[in-house]
Parts: sequence; structure tokens; C-alpha cells
Amino acid sequence: MNPAQAQAVAGFFVPAVRLPGERWCRNEMKQAAPDWEIDTQAIRAGQSRTQEHEHSDPIFATSSFVFDSAADAAEKFSGNRPGNVYSRFTNPTVRAFEQRLAALEGGEYCVATASGMSAILCLALATLSAGDRIAVSVNVFGSTVSLFSKILKRFGVIADFVPLTDLEAWERAITPRTRLVFVESPSNPTCEIANIEAISVLARKANALLAVDNVYCTPVLQRPLALGADVVVHSATKYLDGQGRCVGGALVVNDKDLFDKLFDTLRTAGPAMSPFNAWVFLKGLETLPLRMRAHCDNAAAVACWLTEHPAVQRLYYPGLTTHPGHEQALRQQSGFGGILAFEVAGGRESAWQVIDATRMASITANLGDSRTTVTHPASTTHSRISAEARDAMGVRESLIRVSVGLEDPSDICADLARGLDLIAERSRICAA
Ligand SMILES: *Cc1c(COP(=O)(O)O)cnc(C)c1O
Repeated sequence: MNPAQAQAVAGFFVPAVRLPGERWCRNEMKQAAPDWEIDTQAIRAGQSRTQEHEHSDPIFATSSFVFDSAADAAEKFSGNRPGNVYSRFTNPTVRAFEQRLAALEGGEYCVATASGMSAILCLALATLSAGDRIAVSVNVFGSTVSLFSKILKRFGVIADFVPLTDLEAWERAITPRTRLVFVESPSNPTCEIANIEAISVLARKANALLAVDNVYCTPVLQRPLALGADVVVHSATKYLDGQGRCVGGALVVNDKDLFDKLFDTLRTAGPAMSPFNAWVFLKGLETLPLRMRAHCDNAAAVACWLTEHPAVQRLYYPGLTTHPGHEQALRQQSGFGGILAFEVAGGRESAWQVIDATRMASITANLGDSRTTVTHPASTTHSRISAEARDAMGVRESLIRVSVGLEDPSDICADLARGLDLIAERSRICAA
């Protein structure tokens, strides 16, 4: 890098002599370089170098920070002076992750949390009181259902479950008591697509906040804030990490008052992200745009192959023109994602056979990993839900979910073919 280039780049960074310690994770990088494309943001946003001039982000493995004087401590504790206090609520490595994710989502503020579920818990604690209602889509993540319908219920918060794609049902469910509208799109595992913009209009009319769980798409494929959402929810455990290493979560918002409430909840309740995990996620974010495009390409290739297989009875992938959410996905996403699901002839027995016949794919409930994972939702992720409710969600015994990884798609197809070919062969013999 020549001196002119060095200066141009340095202009984007927080000066090295300044303590990295603003109390709020305001997105300075975005303001400094508003024109960066998402691939650049993923690599550059949020880094503030220390006086050591390190190239890669450092891990600040420290629980607390020292003050120059008693008066300095008092000022920083009160929030009157920016600066780190205690890693439950301010840590430079965590802040770098927050700023980078905020930049990617096109948001101003971010709060990182210990897990995706603690992000949702923080959101609920910060915005709801006894007597309030949540309107939430039926097919959200299983623990989100339990948090809303079991735990929050004990605190007097009532959840109303709404079919994701039924706008009239949303209109009926969002009442003056509704303070939070919670949507996950695409849904798990059948990839239904919500009309986020239309739901945001209904939420705004009722003065309720709209939160969108963006785990499936990540900001690379979908930016909920631009579609009218007030809060973006993340489980960093999935694609943001991308290699199945750490558990973490985050909330991204544009409104300063809402951010203050979330930050104060995190600070007081304490579900903080560890600096080490934040560092892993920072490294994950650097390759997120590249990986998401590759996940989409691989999933599309596997979906195309599955449409031709005689043992596949039904296939859920929003990239297929036959998928009911295809048009909506085209309107609000820039890619169809890396997750698909399909039904096989013969119920649970056949589904398990396909899963057990794989030799490469990992049998695990995690998703968004570089490794392809296969799951039988009815007996794992959705087993705590009643059979009737599962049916209503389309989670049948014959359904298999695949989080398509970054292996060569021909190897992924060959792995799925082991069990699918057996089923096709069996039904051919039966028919003969
Ligand atoms: C995994 C997941 C969560 C919860 O995140 P954790 O990091 O496991 O706590 C929430 N929503 C969706 C869509 C998820 O896939």
C-alpha cells in the first residue's frame, strides 16, 4: 500500500490514539464510508485499530477496563463520558461485531447477545409488559414458540399465533394491545415467505414494533429494516458464523430510543456475547456474502436434482416457480437461500431411511453451516409441538430438511440418492 492509499484507508478508521470505547455502538464506519458495497462492509466495517496497529481484529479478553482516575470512573459509569466499563455491556471485540452487522443490515445500532434466543428474550424484556400481546407467525423457531407461549405467559404476556402468509389474519390478530409483531421469513422448514412490507404497515398502524428473524436469509439476501421492520433478530450461531463453532445472537435497530432500551436490558439482565465468540463471528462475517451466494447456488442445484427424483413427493424451495412464496421472495430477497425441505413416499420410516443412508451429510439440527446438515423436523426440532399443530405447519412425518452446505452439489445429491434410490426401487417393485 502506498502512502496515499494508506491515508485514504486510514481516513475510514477511528484514529489509533483514541480509546476504542464509545458507550454506544453507533455505526461510525457506515457514516464514514456510506458507499461501500456489502462485500466490502462485510470485511471492513466496524474495525477500529489500536495503537498496536494490528491488521486482523484483536480479541479483548478482559472482563473490566481501568479508569484514569476516580472521576473518570464516575463519568464513564454514568455514561456521560464514552469508554469501556465492563464486558457485560461494552467490549471492543463485541462492538466491532455489532458495528459490522449493523452496517450489513443497513441499520444504525446493534446489540450482540449470548445466543439467538437471548436476543429474542432481550427484545421481549425491553419492549413488553404484563397485559401486552405479541402477534407471531405460526412457523417460528421452536424455542421462540416456547418462550412466547410458555415463559412470557407467566409474566402476563399473551402470544397470538398467525399463519405467516395470511394478511387478513394478521390484520385481525394485531390489536391495540399488540406491542410486538414477530415474523420469521422464510419459515422453517417449509420456506413460506411473508409479505414483510404489508405486515409492517399493519404493525405501524397499531403502533406495534415489527421484529423480523433474519436467520435464514442474513442481510446478504434480505434487509428487513428497508422493508419496514423496526428490529432485525439474528442467531449468529447459523450463517453468520457459518462453520458451526459458536452460539450467539444480535438485534439491529434504527431507532435510538429502542436501542437504549435494548442496551439497558442487556446491561442489566446480562446475556452478553463473549469476546472470543464475537471474534469468531467477525471472521465469519468477512466471508458471509461469498458463502451466501454459494449456499444459494448449491441449494438451487440440489433442488433441481430433487425435482427429478421419483421418490420425492413434494419439494419446498422458494427458488422453484411452483413454490407459493416464489413471487414474494423475488420481491423482497436477493437470493432464495440455502435451505430446502422435501417429502418422501412412505412416512417417517422412509424419511429416516434417507437420513440414515447418508454418509457425508451431518445428522444434526444446526443449519447455516459449510457442511450439509439433514434433519427430520417432526421427531426433532418440532417434536415438542402437537401432531395436529405440526400438520397445520406442513411438518409431516415424511418431511426432511436439508441445510445445503458448501460441498460440491454433485456429492450432496449423491449422498441423498443413497436412500432415495432405495425408496424409488421399493415402490417400483411394489407397483410391478
Ligand atoms: C437457531 C435459531 C434461533 C435461536 O438461536 P440460538 O442461537 O440457537 O439461540 C432463532 N431463530 C431461528 C430462525 C433459528 O434458526
